[in-house]
Amino acid sequence: MYDVIIVGGGPAGLTAGIYCGRAGLAVLVLEGGAFGGQMTLSSEIENYPAFPQGISGEELSSLMRGQAERLGAELRREKAKTIDLKTKTVVTRKGEYRAKNIILAMGASPRPLGVPGENELRGAGVSYCAVCDGGFFKNKTVAVIGGGDTAVHDCEYLSRICEKVYLIHRRDRLRGGEGALKRVTLPNVEILWNTRVAEFVGENGALTGLRLEGGGTLPVSAAFVAVGTSPNTGAVEGQLELQNGYVPANERMETAIPGVYAVGDLRVKELRQIVTAASDGAVAAACITGCEK
Ligand SMILES: Cc1cc2nc3c(=O)[nH]c(=O)nc-3n(C[C@H](O)[C@H](O)[C@H](O)COP(=O)(O)OP(=O)(O)OC[C@H]3O[C@@H](n4cnc5c(N)ncnc54)[C@H](O)[C@@H]3O)c2cc1C
Repeated sequence: MYDVIIVGGGPAGLTAGIYCGRAGLAVLVLEGGAFGGQMTLSSEIENYPAFPQGISGEELSSLMRGQAERLGAELRREKAKTIDLKTKTVVTRKGEYRAKNIILAMGASPRPLGVPGENELRGAGVSYCAVCDGGFFKNKTVAVIGGGDTAVHDCEYLSRICEKVYLIHRRDRLRGGEGALKRVTLPNVEILWNTRVAEFVGENGALTGLRLEGGGTLPVSAAFVAVGTSPNTGAVEGQLELQNGYVPANERMETAIPGVYAVGDLRVKELRQIVTAASDGAVAAACITGCEK
């Protein structure tokens, strides 16, 4: 019996592990993929405090992982197949674990566009996070693909740092209607309506353009895919009420079920970044250890 089981070893889960371990709790962190989560996909992180020259995702992941272990968290590479939130029982392929508290930190995965060239050029011009990677394309021409809130937000953000931004949308109106259109009616933004990307085109391993359906290639230095994210909530399906697939939690990261916390990208929140994921993890752990009560 653990005090806390944390499901997911990204920055949210590892930070919760650091705080729980340091507080002397018996804490297990289960990670189904790579410790570090989405951080491991980023070749350079420029906006995490205290690394003014930037740091690679791999290195930041390894630092967080090492810190959690050093402070007493038990880390296991096991995917939670089912998580019973009432009995606080987690089942993996290797065993069954029980705890007094569960922290859900399974993160979210950006939805791919699903066209040729995407996997090969991921991280080399194809990005899923404008706030994370936009800074690498200052004063360049870039594209945002999508028509929802994230696409509009990314477009506004990139218009401030890039020379030109194409917003490529497969329909003839944005999901947010007139309000959204107003936000992207900017001198350096051009909207390509009823347009679909057929292929990401690259040269020497870096994105150079987008081949559009119906012909023609649009030269761009980067393309930001904003066609949605999928929170990784499969293991708790049907047990919690979700909002658009994300887990609602209060400011202490408490969900509707006592002893169950939600942190990081899978939580309903405004900004999904490493620093906010880490913050959520710290808050949940502090709530469990009683500091905040
Ligand atoms: C390409 C890219 C670049 C980015 N760059 C930056 C950046 O520069 N700066 C920045 O601040 N943010 C960046 N982000 C966003 C940032 O990485 C995320 O906001 C952050 O990692 C979220 O942390 P998390 O711990 O909530 O989730 P995640 O990082 O998604 O980690 C969740 C972990 O849970 C694991 N998991 C899922 N289901 C299970 C299960 N059933 N059992 C066990 N484990 C499970 C996953 O394998 C994963 O490792 C980037 C994201 C991407 C995709």
